[in-house]
Amino acid sequence: MSRGPAEDQLNSYKKTVKDESIVTTATGAPIGVKDATQSVGHRGPLLLQDVNFLDEISHFDRERIPERVVHAKGAGAFGYFEVTHPDIQKYSAAKVFGAVGKKTPIAVRFSTVGGESGSADTVRDPRGFAVKFYTEDGIWDLVGNNTPIFFIRDPILFPSFIHTQKRNPTTHLKDPDMFWDFISLRPETTHQVMFLFSDRGIPDGYRHMNGYGSHTFKLINDKGEPTYCKFHYKTDQKIKNLPVDRANDLSASDPDYSIRDLYNAIAKGDYPTWTFHIQVMSYTEAEKASFNPFDVTKVWPQSDYPLIPVGKLVLDRNPNNYFAEVEQIAFSPANLVPGIEPSPDKMLQGRLFSYSDTHRHRLGPNHLQLPVNCPYRVSTKNYQRDGSMCFTDNQGGAPNYFPNSFGGPTECERARKLNPPERVSGDVYRISTAHEDNFSQAGIFYSKVLNAEEKLRLANNISGHLAGASQFIQERAVKNFSQASSELGIRIATNLKLKTSANL
Ligand code: NDP
Repeated sequence: MSRGPAEDQLNSYKKTVKDESIVTTATGAPIGVKDATQSVGHRGPLLLQDVNFLDEISHFDRERIPERVVHAKGAGAFGYFEVTHPDIQKYSAAKVFGAVGKKTPIAVRFSTVGGESGSADTVRDPRGFAVKFYTEDGIWDLVGNNTPIFFIRDPILFPSFIHTQKRNPTTHLKDPDMFWDFISLRPETTHQVMFLFSDRGIPDGYRHMNGYGSHTFKLINDKGEPTYCKFHYKTDQKIKNLPVDRANDLSASDPDYSIRDLYNAIAKGDYPTWTFHIQVMSYTEAEKASFNPFDVTKVWPQSDYPLIPVGKLVLDRNPNNYFAEVEQIAFSPANLVPGIEPSPDKMLQGRLFSYSDTHRHRLGPNHLQLPVNCPYRVSTKNYQRDGSMCFTDNQGGAPNYFPNSFGGPTECERARKLNPPERVSGDVYRISTAHEDNFSQAGIFYSKVLNAEEKLRLANNISGHLAGASQFIQERAVKNFSQASSELGIRIATNLKLKTSANL
């Protein structure tokens, strides 16, 4: 592997060092001898009084924080979002969408989903593409992926779905039976599984893929009027995917391929950019739509809901320290700002709770005080206090209850107007969504979007992986794919030497 900025990072750092510094304990006391423990004589045992050693080893023992349950392996970068078109202001009064030319600082984390923190980058897996906007109204997180859809539409299935993508609890191996059993029992996964096994399932690094907010969101304009919306951020580097053989080779020879590619591009000044668009749908259109616009297993057809350009994302700075700025960065779809709200999308509603909850476990209740997470363009003023690792002044002497008569922070009229009342009614019960339309868009994807070679590769990629599952599961999966496209079903069945779905 040739040397690039990533390989030369330490040499580059050395050039920035002006004066030699003295090594200290964590409490700042200078250390005289750094390379030897205190012992009784040359061969003797160590002493409990060697506080420098205890300081060093006890911190080392605590270096790792819990790995993210999903999206554990990732890369991060920083830059800005710039508004290039004014159209979005008709729909959203969010300050981030101010006048053309307005720039807002951003942080981005890209990731694979199923693998551990040390797993290979070039696997077949969706990619996370989360954007944190440090706006003048606080943090807005758009916690997206490189696909406009997701596998399931009800969040109660999420833990089970993820378990099937991870390791078998007995063998600690990836298990094709687990994977395909769940996928075939929940046919709403068909559309996203077809994306996953298409060429876009292994993007060539993180710069050559699109990002999507995936869920439906709600925008509120300055008149308090709501509109539903989807976010798309399309790569300006052009879509590029890795052929399966090359991806497999890279998994062995350069498992950190995507992290390296992003770091080196930014270090060389080749800053990646994405063009940011929205699709919009009025409330009336949502009521009349032929599909459920809040179902995250479906796209909004671009012919009916055309992309409206908004701005661009630019990444022009690498992290100064990976742990501080990437491992500790915490995204949550619940981090919203006035002018952007959730829609009734069930998966989104589930994520609103889950992300902040996992950060409270992984990083602690005060994780929003960490420099990379804090809304540094505003001054957080609220009635939350204390908790583990509070490292601000804890809001000093300000009253810690609301309402109060002593100058504590008060409500924002603008934010109230941008959160208009919404009528909701319906019977409360657990509604199974298993048998909603699971195949029509998957069928359109196969028949209209993929060309002849892409169709063949899709069938081969699916059958190559499905071959590892038990035959009854293979047969059930083929039945599902056949409902999206009989041609696809026949091709997979033929590859697997199964009867075609009509005979199953
Ligand atoms: P369009 O023809 O307007 O959209 C098709 C979209 O498919 C393209 O814009 C592109 O999305 C995406 N696409 C192109 N090639 C591939 C590929 N090899 N793998 C994955 N995606 C690809 O038609 P519709 O909007 O009516 O959508 C038709 C089907 O296209 C949908 O059922 C869905 O399966 C798929 N699709 C639709 C998207 C949407 O937002 N409407 C987005 C992605 C896929 P992009 O421009 O974002 O790269």
